[in-house]
Amino acid sequence: MWKLPSLETRTAAAGLSSPPDTDLLVIYQDAGKKIIAPQGHYAPLVERFKKGEAFSARSGSIQYVRFGAVGKAENVMLVGFGQASELTEEKARLAGAHAWAKLSFEKARSVSIDVDSMLEARGLKAENAPAGLVRVIRAFTEGLLMSAYKVDKKTQAPVLSKAGKGKVSTKSKSPAHDYFGPERLIFVTQDKDVKKELDHELTQVTSMAEAINVARDWSNEPSNIGTPEFYAAEAVRLAREHGIKCTILDEKAAAREKMGLFLGVGAGSEREGRIVVLDYTPKSAKGAPLSKTIALVGKGVTFDSGGISIKPSMRMEDMKHDMTGASTIMGAILLAAKWKVPNRVVAILAFTENMPDGLAIQPGNVLVSRAGKTVEIINTDAEGRLVLADVLDYAHGFSPDAIIDAATLTGAVTVALGKHCCAVLGNDESLIQNLQRAGEMNFERIWELPLFDEYFDDLKSDYADMKNSANDGYGGTIRGAIFLKQFIKPGVAWAHLDIAGTAYGMGHLAYYPKKGASGAYVRTLAQFAADF
Ligand SMILES: [Zn+2]
Repeated sequence: MWKLPSLETRTAAAGLSSPPDTDLLVIYQDAGKKIIAPQGHYAPLVERFKKGEAFSARSGSIQYVRFGAVGKAENVMLVGFGQASELTEEKARLAGAHAWAKLSFEKARSVSIDVDSMLEARGLKAENAPAGLVRVIRAFTEGLLMSAYKVDKKTQAPVLSKAGKGKVSTKSKSPAHDYFGPERLIFVTQDKDVKKELDHELTQVTSMAEAINVARDWSNEPSNIGTPEFYAAEAVRLAREHGIKCTILDEKAAAREKMGLFLGVGAGSEREGRIVVLDYTPKSAKGAPLSKTIALVGKGVTFDSGGISIKPSMRMEDMKHDMTGASTIMGAILLAAKWKVPNRVVAILAFTENMPDGLAIQPGNVLVSRAGKTVEIINTDAEGRLVLADVLDYAHGFSPDAIIDAATLTGAVTVALGKHCCAVLGNDESLIQNLQRAGEMNFERIWELPLFDEYFDDLKSDYADMKNSANDGYGGTIRGAIFLKQFIKPGVAWAHLDIAGTAYGMGHLAYYPKKGASGAYVRTLAQFAADF
């Protein structure tokens, strides 16, 4: 993983042993969309931009002035925030992402961020800073740090692991001399209260970016390296680092648990599946309200060929991302632990591979689930719901107050909703609303689709309790969810997030990588765990 820049707060940029090479100033527009020049040092410089059209302080616009030093840092970067009345956290987040791109392009290493410029230009005194302002600075920083990500190039082929045996070893190419981006971001404010609040917020943002990058790294891992065994080993390592309890179920243990659906999906793969169970329990403070238990369940199909119902070859390489539900949940529980959320979080990640060999399940086969319900396989490419059904059933054993699963479950969700939100379906309105609220706070939007019982009629089978798919393309996302619902016990609150549309290829938002995994919904799920 690439190293994130260090964040620090100071009351003055002066006195640093190595002074920053770039000063970063936020510039607002007035009601007539004209630049408001800041007070102080850079006023004359900004004043000159008023005359031209190069920089208008439009939200997210950037101007980098190299060697423009009039005393302080060598270079100065102006970041437009538009009109104060129209500023939102998301605009600040996008501005942060644009700022990161420019700072990287200009090879800035150390940046001093003038926090007070965010106050002064709005005619505010620091002591009157609205609480929302710290949220804006936080969002701006999220934009900076979420952009600080690159995939490591592989330089060494892995030693292939068969049937879960043998070591997978790889080397990644990230030479120390490669410039990647600023190494140091210094937030300067004269106000001690703002500084104190920022210290807390910036630590949270760093944890957030680290967790998101774990989710991205996992999702981007090629499936000859990112095997179930690999993720299990990584989970053990990361859990230890974060003080989370971690247990691994191999296929023998899954067989003892009678997980016939999970094992059925992996039947055609040489590589053994693994179920990772992570348990974060908060240290309860005296007088704190009794904490709740949240079970997070993730689909971890490390490669989905479709099985015997094999997929077309076009863009099949993207099917290495079919474990993004699991990587998202992993990121979320790591972040929940870092944030020390007050609720217990149990994460269950089900890793397996969907391959078409001589032992692979075939259309028409009947499998028996852990819950004892039987399933007729119509389409072996509808495997995610099979994997999830058994682990959703298993999750009930932790007596959760809510179960939430995340999965790249259906292509249909992208047809229905595009890439600007994920889908939620479930059996509990207040749970769904809580998830949506946590999503709104992070601009990770969640849209509810219906889950009428009648949809189950489409999955009725002559040979088993249900089919895993129907033979037409109608309502695919809903059918996936209504299938999962059969494995939720009465009275248990449950919500299913179909993240197939948002898991990767989210470059239209500047803080997501142009290509590959987005890391979306890590923030939302951790936020939910904090607020539930
Ligand atoms: Zn599939």
